[in-house]
Amino acid sequence: MNGFLSGIGEFGAIDHIKSMCGSPGRGVVGIGDDAAIFKVSPGMAALVTTDMLVEGVHFDLTYTGFEVLGYKSAAVNLSDIAAMGGRPRFYLVSAALRPRMRLEELEGFYRGLESACRPFGVRLIGGDTTSSFGSSCGSPYGSSAGGSTGPLVISVTIIGEAYPGRAVKRTGAKVGDDIYVTGSLGDSACGLAILKARGTEGLNKDETRLAARHLRPSPRIRAGRLLGEARLASAMIDISDGLSSDLGHILEQSGVGAVVYKDRLPISGDLMQTAGIKKAVQFALHGGEDYELLFTARPSCRKKIAALQEKAGVSFTSIGNITAEDGALLVDEKGQGRALRPSGYEHFRK
Ligand code: ADP
Ligand code: MG
Repeated sequence: MNGFLSGIGEFGAIDHIKSMCGSPGRGVVGIGDDAAIFKVSPGMAALVTTDMLVEGVHFDLTYTGFEVLGYKSAAVNLSDIAAMGGRPRFYLVSAALRPRMRLEELEGFYRGLESACRPFGVRLIGGDTTSSFGSSCGSPYGSSAGGSTGPLVISVTIIGEAYPGRAVKRTGAKVGDDIYVTGSLGDSACGLAILKARGTEGLNKDETRLAARHLRPSPRIRAGRLLGEARLASAMIDISDGLSSDLGHILEQSGVGAVVYKDRLPISGDLMQTAGIKKAVQFALHGGEDYELLFTARPSCRKKIAALQEKAGVSFTSIGNITAEDGALLVDEKGQGRALRPSGYEHFRK
């Protein structure tokens, strides 16, 4: 479809979205009424998570196309459901859009959302659409006659489900537990650095894979769900702000400390080749947006956890242990320890 959103208006846009994403299934009321109606599976508890993405803060359209933006907006929320050990079911999308947005850009955005959600059977059931064009407020994003256009703002909400009592919280880590991460760490932050410096053109194979890890992270839905349903994880979080920060959340909320071994950090060949060991370790410790899972488990669960990797479709690496002392200690190859302080991304901090 050609043209701009201003040509079809809010309701035209909603109709278009509805026809693109299809019916959410029998017994579900999706787009078109005042509220959506759905049921979670019998005996399951509902999980709800929401995340907002703001142009200029979370994404930059110069190297993020609309399809990638859609994919990522959904993937970060799917990752939160994974981190609870849940199964995602439905999603809603609220967006403040520019009137000069092209229809093909809107289509790309929803294609990206669907490409993240459909493989997990997650269906669109509603949202809200508004214009980011206002007449009463100044905007750094430029103005046109009689008003100004604000940044693109997107909020995705995902509804999931978990067996009551089996959702994995951040509060359950106990002294003596092992600490694990899925997959590899630091790829996304290195990928972002490459994209910022050089864009998407002319990258070698390693760099292209690192950039893809930033643009299209894989939410670890299967891993999270298997760990939760088998009651193997005592605490879990997804790594959105960086290992040092997200481990910090588990430690604080569980009232425990940790030792992390530097030489056990799972670092991909791509990252090692591209950044070298020193920088790779920094990316792995503090880089955000890997959307891997960080979880703790009793040492008695080691065999079961190792055996789950194949089914989960991702590796689990033990990187340290939970201790009784406050804070996290990073131990190097020589056995020397130093404090591992949270230094990932935090909004409102200078
Ligand atoms: P209301 O005025 O009751 O808020 P709307 O006109 O905003 O209703 O929305 C009409 C229907 O379209 C609702 O079912 C709503 O969930 C859905 N909807 C609106 N915007 C979006 C969107 N961006 N993506 C998906 N569904 C949407
Ligand atoms: Mg509305």
